[in-house]
This record gives sequence, structure tokens and C-alpha cells, in this order.
Amino acid sequence: MPSLEGRVHDRLREILGEAHVSNNDLDRFVYSGSANVAMPPRRVVGEFGPGSLPAFVVWPETTPQVVELVHLANQEKIPLVPLGGSVGLRGGSLPLSRNAIVVDLKKMHKILDINPSAMTVTVQAGIVRPEMDEELAARGFWFPHDPPSHPVSAIGGFISTAAAGWWMPKYGYMGDLLLALELVLPTGEILRTKPVMKHSVGPNLNWLFVGAGGTLGIITEATLKIYPLPEARYTRVYTFDAFNKAYRAAYEINRRDLNPYVMRVGDDGHSKVYLGRALQAPDLTGYTLVVGFDGMKEMVELQDRLAREIALHHGGKDWGLELGQRFWDTRLSYW
Ligand SMILES: Cc1cc2nc3c(=O)[nH]c(=O)nc-3n(C[C@H](O)[C@H](O)[C@H](O)COP(=O)(O)OP(=O)(O)OC[C@H]3O[C@@H](n4cnc5c(N)ncnc54)[C@H](O)[C@@H]3O)c2cc1C
Repeated sequence: MPSLEGRVHDRLREILGEAHVSNNDLDRFVYSGSANVAMPPRRVVGEFGPGSLPAFVVWPETTPQVVELVHLANQEKIPLVPLGGSVGLRGGSLPLSRNAIVVDLKKMHKILDINPSAMTVTVQAGIVRPEMDEELAARGFWFPHDPPSHPVSAIGGFISTAAAGWWMPKYGYMGDLLLALELVLPTGEILRTKPVMKHSVGPNLNWLFVGAGGTLGIITEATLKIYPLPEARYTRVYTFDAFNKAYRAAYEINRRDLNPYVMRVGDDGHSKVYLGRALQAPDLTGYTLVVGFDGMKEMVELQDRLAREIALHHGGKDWGLELGQRFWDTRLSYW
């Protein structure tokens, strides 16, 4: 009778093919660690409890393969750990058992459908946003979700951590952008929710899986809302001599329903350590308000003008549109 490890290895090779299964020491070591909560993030092993080297790392490409993996895990009573970019910062993608199989979804990265009339895109859950950007832009659309980890985090990871990005004030967080998903339940059954804007009665099941951290199944596909590429985007950085003034300006911009795509208030430390450095503006000190608008040019000009009046009224210093554009361009170099 072959050992548990031998049996599982044989079955994994049958399900996925030799090239998509690994039990070599390097892969097991790499997948036993993750980015941690420190800023800047660094790789750690074992900070979230008794972290372990997994028994196997696998790279499925299709939903039926994920179903087979779940059946195998049930049969042999071994844990599966789904993973996207592994930069969730909370250790959710770390294996805690030596029998664990890490299921890396990065090879499930196809765009399955772009529907311009419904304004949706359907993707496999291992895709990262830059892989979608070009095809969406070619059709005049974009997917407005932008946590700083977006070059490496996968859509399944975003959903499972209820991620929120820079553009949340206008476009919402990941749960708001999710219309439907396909998920392999712990029983091996496939659950598919409907890609509709509104469910007439009954709970919207999608929300059960937003932030579930892989505990309720493995997400294999998602249908997401997409938006027309904006004609214009204006962003400004203001500085104030008191936090309260920056906060009051931000509050009034919201109160007047100006609908900014980005709105961030920061203290002096934030200005010096992050904002000033990323913007290459070493003299940027004090309390900051970053606020920006996107959409049709005429609307954006009006929103920007009204927001500027409010910021100046509260004693803000305007650093101009050029620095605001630099905020947009360098937003990923913060960390
Ligand atoms: C520099 C930096 C900045 C960040 N800034 C932000 C920020 O501004 N806002 C924010 O919200 N987050 C932020 N994060 C955290 C990170 O962006 C999010 O947590 C992101 O959603 C993680 O995605 P991931 O693909 O790396 O997930 P992973 O780390 O791979 O997984 C996270 C969890 O989801 C589960 N999971 C992954 N894929 C699936 C799947 N297909 N099905 C079921 N479960 C799955 C995993 O098991 C794990 O529990 C930041 C991270 C970094 C490194």
C-alpha cells in the first residue's frame, strides 16, 4: 500500500499533469512564506502561528481540475490552501499543516468574456489587473480597483480579502465591483451566481464570499463591473497647517456630493514619509488632502473648481494639477 504522500502525488499528477505539481524543497519553501503586515512588506515564515512547509504546490488551469482537487482533499482528509498573489498581509495563504496542498491559481488567468453592453468582464480568478488593462482599454473600458498591490494580487485574492483601493470613494471596494462568481464548494460542487445588477428577492450570495479568506470554497471565476475610460482626470494635492482644516475640507467636498474618485487626508508624517517622497516634492509638509475627479471633461472641470474653492476656503495651499498628475503616475511607488 503506497504512503499517503505517494498516493496523493500520483493522483495530483493524474489530475493536473506532471508540470503542474511540485514537491521540491524550493517551491515548498517559497510557498511557506508570505508578505507580512510590516510596511514595507517583507517575506516571513511562521509569524502567524506554526507555519509549515506544505506537502505540495499545485497550479490548476481549469475549474474541473479544482473540483478534482477538492474531492482528493476530502478523500485523504488534507487541507487545501488557495492563493493568488500571496500578498494579503494577514497570513491567510500560509499553510499550517505539513500535509497541506497550496493551490496557486495564477495559471487560471484568462479573460473569458468582455460584454460592452452589460459593461462587465468575466475572468478566471487567478488573473491580475494589468493582464486585463490592455484588452479592456482597447474597447474603451477599465476596471477601477487599485490597491497598491494590484500588479501582483489576483482577483480571487481581492474578493477573498474584501480589498479596497485608491479609487474606493467613487467606485466602491471589491464587493461593490463583483457581479457574479463561480466557486468550488468544500463538497466539490460548483456554485455559480447570476451576473445581474439586482437580485429581486433573497440574499445576494456573492457577499458571503467577499472577505471569506478561502474558508468557504475556492473562487474560480468572477464577473466584474467595468467602466468607460474617463475623458479627463484631474487630481490635486493641498496642504494645511492643521489636521482639522484638511478634514473639514474633505468633509465639505463629500457633503456637497462632488463625488471624487480619490480622497485622502494625511498627517505630517504621511506627507514626509510617503507623499513627498513619491511625488519627489521634499518641501511638501503639513497635513495633506489628495482629491481628484474623473469622467467627462466638462463635469471634471466643474467638480475640480468647486473642490478647489472649498479647499482654499479652509486654508489649503494648492500644489497644482501637475503634482496631482504625479500622484496618479507614482501611486504604486509609495511603499
Ligand atoms: C504594498 C501593499 C499594499 C497594500 N495595500 C492595500 C490596500 O490599500 N487595500 C487593501 O485592501 N489591501 C491592501 N493590501 C493587501 C492586498 O492587496 C490584499 O489583501 C489583496 O486582496 C491580496 O490579494 P492576493 O491575491 O495577494 O491574496 P492572497 O494573499 O494570495 O490570499 C489572501 C486570502 O485569500 C484567499 N484566496 C486567494 N485566492 C483565493 C481564491 N481564488 N478562492 C478562495 N480564496 C482565495 C487566501 O487563501 C487567503 O486567505 C496591500 C498589500 C501590499 C503588499
